[in-house]
Amino acid sequence: LEPAGHVRERIPLDTFSKARRSMVMSRVAHYNTAPERTVRAMIVCLGHPFRLHVKTLPGRPDVVLRRKRIAIFVHGCFWHGHPGCRRSVVPVTNRSFWRQKIERNVRRDRAASRGLRTAGWQVLVIWECQLKRGQYIFRRLERLLARKL
Ligand SMILES: [Zn+2]
Repeated sequence: LEPAGHVRERIPLDTFSKARRSMVMSRVAHYNTAPERTVRAMIVCLGHPFRLHVKTLPGRPDVVLRRKRIAIFVHGCFWHGHPGCRRSVVPVTNRSFWRQKIERNVRRDRAASRGLRTAGWQVLVIWECQLKRGQYIFRRLERLLARKL
């Protein structure tokens, strides 16, 4: 039995050292200018070899972890039509032009994902707006990379 008012020791939720975390977070802070670079920095931090923009794979994935057979796309919310995202609102002027353009991208993205999955790849799409909560994406990547094949 615990005495009343006893404060339990907290178990840390994350397994990273403070230095490592702050290094990642300082990079995550730059998500605005380069979402893709942010994701790359996270993977570097997690210590996995990767390749960029692999032309031989469907959709030319932004980051490819060959050993884990994971293909990652970092999508801009506007250009890739992130559903329900306020960053993906189509401008009022030239609406049909933009809509067509974006729909084409969405179709292309879908075909790429399908092609990759069929070939046995795991596909991860990271939306630009999700990098606002960089820690969440970081943990997700970490879990994904920790998984055994
Ligand atoms: Zn979005």
